[in-house]
Amino acid sequence: MIKGAKLAKDLGLDYYEIKPAFVAPDKPNQLANTLSIADANALMLEAKELEDENFAVYAKVDQMETVFTREDDRRYDDCPGHKTNAVLEADFDLYICSNHKTPEFVFGNLKNQSFKQVWHGEQRKNILRDLNVHHCEPRCRMDPLNNIVHEIRIGERIVPLNLPTPDSQTHPNFL
Ligand code: SF4
Repeated sequence: MIKGAKLAKDLGLDYYEIKPAFVAPDKPNQLANTLSIADANALMLEAKELEDENFAVYAKVDQMETVFTREDDRRYDDCPGHKTNAVLEADFDLYICSNHKTPEFVFGNLKNQSFKQVWHGEQRKNILRDLNVHHCEPRCRMDPLNNIVHEIRIGERIVPLNLPTPDSQTHPNFL
């Protein structure tokens, strides 16, 4: 972590991000995390000491702890977030997300079908119906978004009617 942060800073990058590596339950050949939470946190804090006015270190301490302890604290039971996070691989297979790149989570192949056919197809419908998010990685990439959608659904979060227009200078590539 420290070496990576130093290298990023020396290269003149704006920021360096430290995230946990997921050991997906459906990928038994992946190497397990070997650092303790305490050691990982200490390294993240050390990396943060490299921050200055031109360089930031973003360390996902909360996410790291949940991934290490593998605690499922999801309050939601489905994954609306996958709509913004599906993964298209080089062989044109379209997966539900980057954590589930195994055959049982392929929505379809875009070489053989159009995106529209795959997205509205039976295979995607069946995968979403059978998906048990409580078996997914804790704090996966879409967890924050799924939480927001859940809070809106149950009335804990109100979406303002008049949302401000995004600043095109701040987010030039925002879709
Ligand atoms: S909850 Fe997370 S890991 Fe599970 S399908 Fe959705 S994005 Fe993937």
